[in-house]
Amino acid sequence: MLVTGASRGIGRAVATAFAAAGDRVAIHHRSSPDLAEDLRAGLPGEGHVVVQADVADPAAVRRMVDEAAGALGGLDVVVNNAGVFLAHPVTEVSYEEWQAAWHDTLATNLLGAANVAWCAVRHMSRGGRIVNVSSRGAFRGEPDSPAYGASKAGMNAMGQSLAIALAPHGITVGTVAPGFVETDMTNEHLKAPRGDAIRAQSPFGRVAMPEEIAAAVVYLASPAAEWASGTIIDLNGASYLRS
Ligand code: NAD
Repeated sequence: MLVTGASRGIGRAVATAFAAAGDRVAIHHRSSPDLAEDLRAGLPGEGHVVVQADVADPAAVRRMVDEAAGALGGLDVVVNNAGVFLAHPVTEVSYEEWQAAWHDTLATNLLGAANVAWCAVRHMSRGGRIVNVSSRGAFRGEPDSPAYGASKAGMNAMGQSLAIALAPHGITVGTVAPGFVETDMTNEHLKAPRGDAIRAQSPFGRVAMPEEIAAAVVYLASPAAEWASGTIIDLNGASYLRS
């Protein structure tokens, strides 16, 4: 299996969960070779590899996916996890900053995932599983990063379209859409006082841990999950159920 953006956060938890279940993992990173190698060396089992690419670069994606498939002898599972959250409040940023944030966010979160999927399908000759890591921002708005919300809404729609297109090939496409998860991406948001308000959104009074997202990814990648193809799992600890 291949997981993008695996050197830290949710991707690292996903890689760890798959290795614990006995899978060989291709650990993708962009610019963190030491973290990726540290993860590889600590995973249970043999045969894990580290692969590198900027997922916003289509040629690099193709090289990276081919390399991962070559090392693992094909691909059974691919998890599109790499992503960025760039703040660009519409009333505060310049037109140039607005352009740059939209470009970089869509190139990474949406086009990167689309390109990984295209390349991965070519290595799934015996069927497979594609799992996309989307976000609650796809449904509920991201006022500070509208491109992020749009990229994840696009990812949801892409996942549903690919689920239909790939079913005849024995490939399923599932999506998880977490709310706040405790990672480097949310460090700043989760500091008081805003963090207290965020934690209060869930009746559990906390945000998710990366391992809780990884567990849903493992389910969507399992042989039992064929009927979950096209599904978007809204993983939010019962948040947003009260008005
Ligand atoms: P993170 O910042 O720790 O991890 C993101 C990973 O993506 C990093 O390893 C980063 O290097 C990689 N990445 C970013 N741009 C890249 C690029 N151009 N090429 C290659 N790799 C790139 O944050 P995280 O919370 O672990 O995020 C993982 C995924 O989960 C993201 O897609 C994010 O949008 C999504 N998500 C996170 C939360 C949250 O609250 N943390 C909530 C919903 C969805």
